Amino acid sequence: MSHAIDLVVVGSLNADLTARVQRHPSPGETLRATELNTSAGGKGSNQAVAAARLGARTAMVGRVGTDAHADVLLNALRADGVDVTRTLRDGDAPTGTALIAVAESGENTVLVAGGANARLSAADLDAAHSVLVEASVVSLVLEVPVATVVAAARAAHESAARVVLNLSPVVELPPDVVALADPLIVNEHEAREILHRNGEHPPGASVTDHAEALCRLGARSAVVTLGAAGAVVSENGHTRHFPGPAVEVLETTGAGDAFAATVAWRLSLGDTLATATRWGVRVGAYSVRYPGTHPSYPTCDALSADFP
Ligand code: ADP
Repeated sequence: MSHAIDLVVVGSLNADLTARVQRHPSPGETLRATELNTSAGGKGSNQAVAAARLGARTAMVGRVGTDAHADVLLNALRADGVDVTRTLRDGDAPTGTALIAVAESGENTVLVAGGANARLSAADLDAAHSVLVEASVVSLVLEVPVATVVAAARAAHESAARVVLNLSPVVELPPDVVALADPLIVNEHEAREILHRNGEHPPGASVTDHAEALCRLGARSAVVTLGAAGAVVSENGHTRHFPGPAVEVLETTGAGDAFAATVAWRLSLGDTLATATRWGVRVGAYSVRYPGTHPSYPTCDALSADFP
């Protein structure tokens, strides 16, 4: 069946307010920041931009406020060709905001105020029905209410879309929703957290064991990302490691979002999970060589020029 949309992302949009400070303040202390930047972020918006920039026909389902940050986000998504007609503007909540402080030591602190993201509802998905039914793949991230993600996974399944579930941050999901994840994508830390919650984390277990254990928990397939070491995929009882290219790292923020978006896009084109993961580790590695999230994501041409 041919689809009008490659990828629908259901997830968060945040304005990232990044202040540079010499050191982090102690409780009760006021410090001057040396610089302040506002940029588009949030796992959902990162994924939508990463996929669209690579060429995916992408729609974003989410909520922003009616403030100026909403314009920053919507304009950023539009500039990359993301369909934001199902990204709702909410007059009763501010746009989700991440307050990020970066100290000279390189250590970050982040406060996330969910704002409008916390109000994305199952009814919003009904309103987005016409794009959801056109999608080849629906990609879900967890910075929006769990009940909405559950409803989105079930709606995607009903319309025969493939569900890519980036369980970040980790939350409890009903078994029937985990069973739709094809793949479940998590980083190493998140994999350990899920397995620990489910009493499935023997000391000394390897990442291969983690990926296989995620499948035993019910996911159709599982991908565990490993930072510089690439990713491990477990599917149909087979587990494989996909190393990424060695690169000089500048900033890793948003690498996991770029990875998940790339895998989702390649699956929408009919690639196997193995091939999609090879793409994912190349795009992830590309992104860590540049600062920021959206600015670090490649076009297809830029990707093939650097990692032919
Ligand atoms: P997250 O950003 O969610 O913590 P990871 O750190 O595992 O996830 O990174 C996701 C993907 O980004 C990795 O699978 C890899 O492809 C790429 N990546 C991340 N860090 C590096 C790095 N230091 N060198 C090369 N690729 C990286």
